[in-house]
Amino acid sequence: MNVTAVNQYAAEGFPVVEFTPSPHGGLERLWFYFGMENIEVNEYPVTRLILKNINTMLGSNKGNFLPVYRYSGGSWQRLPEARKLLRDDGYISLYWDVESPESLLEIAFCYPYGEKELNALLKDTGNYWQQNEIGVSAAGRPYYRLSNNFGSATERPFGFYLIARQHAMETSGAWVLDGILRHLAELDAAIPVWVIPFANLDGIIEGDYGKDPFPRDINRAWGPNAMMRHETKTISCDLDEWRQRVGKHSIICDLHSPGADEENLYVFIPKDIQQEEPLYQYLRELNLALQDYAADPFIKHSDYKPYSAWGKYWNLCEYANQTLEMPVFSMEISYYKAGGRVLEIDGYRNIGKIIADWACSLS
Ligand SMILES: [Zn+2]
Repeated sequence: MNVTAVNQYAAEGFPVVEFTPSPHGGLERLWFYFGMENIEVNEYPVTRLILKNINTMLGSNKGNFLPVYRYSGGSWQRLPEARKLLRDDGYISLYWDVESPESLLEIAFCYPYGEKELNALLKDTGNYWQQNEIGVSAAGRPYYRLSNNFGSATERPFGFYLIARQHAMETSGAWVLDGILRHLAELDAAIPVWVIPFANLDGIIEGDYGKDPFPRDINRAWGPNAMMRHETKTISCDLDEWRQRVGKHSIICDLHSPGADEENLYVFIPKDIQQEEPLYQYLRELNLALQDYAADPFIKHSDYKPYSAWGKYWNLCEYANQTLEMPVFSMEISYYKAGGRVLEIDGYRNIGKIIADWACSLS
């Protein structure tokens, strides 16, 4: 759960709930998820939800994004486009008028994805994915990696290593991963795929947004001199094990979500990857396969980084490229829209299916 600065009051004819996400001590805020319970017989059919001060949330100035809501633990659905409240000093809040809940109403920035959703995936895919403990998180929670097989140090097959949630609540990346893993199981794919589904496990459990969190962003803790979070230390050990069991052209893929208002999907690759290199060609094929889900341009270099917090420290792509010397890319998946269509869970899974088919075609 993540919500703060909550105010509740009765306006003329309807109840109002004002709220905003908490940074939980980090540098940025964006993610929120909370529930409200109606404990009296409701006289009012409509409740107004007001998300306060989007100016100081990450990448959300336009207020285009579409949060999700659900009643009494039912299915999540997208909120419609928000209406705006503009204060004279320039601060913007968004509001939605929704049906008042009979009991529980939950609202979240995007579809939540946690242990419950991962366990559903593991159950639905039989015993295709195995879950192995590989260490612990910074707070000492058991830390897991999934795999379909361990590869082979003698045969060195083409393999994939997938990481999601370095930024804890970038859940659009998690739903695409869900689609990738479900489709690989359907195909009974033999290429070795190792997966860190919850890189910032503590942040996920504690409801942190996890972009530039305290004490340091996991995706700026990969060097250059040493690992600066226990999570990156743990994943780097696992990458070393994986690397000894797959071919050297195997690919590492890191799933993310962009700023709140951004649409479509795109990838970041290290600056020095030339257009004639295999990774670049592979990603061109992925661009075509994704059709209108893909942004134009689809392949980008991370020129944002020198200007971000801890910009001189390495992210996973820099570590994989410069230390492991393996092909790597990160993917940014919109929280709400691609190809002009609002993204729902099926849409994210369909993107995952396309990526899984593409991955298998490279082996
Ligand atoms: Zn991210």
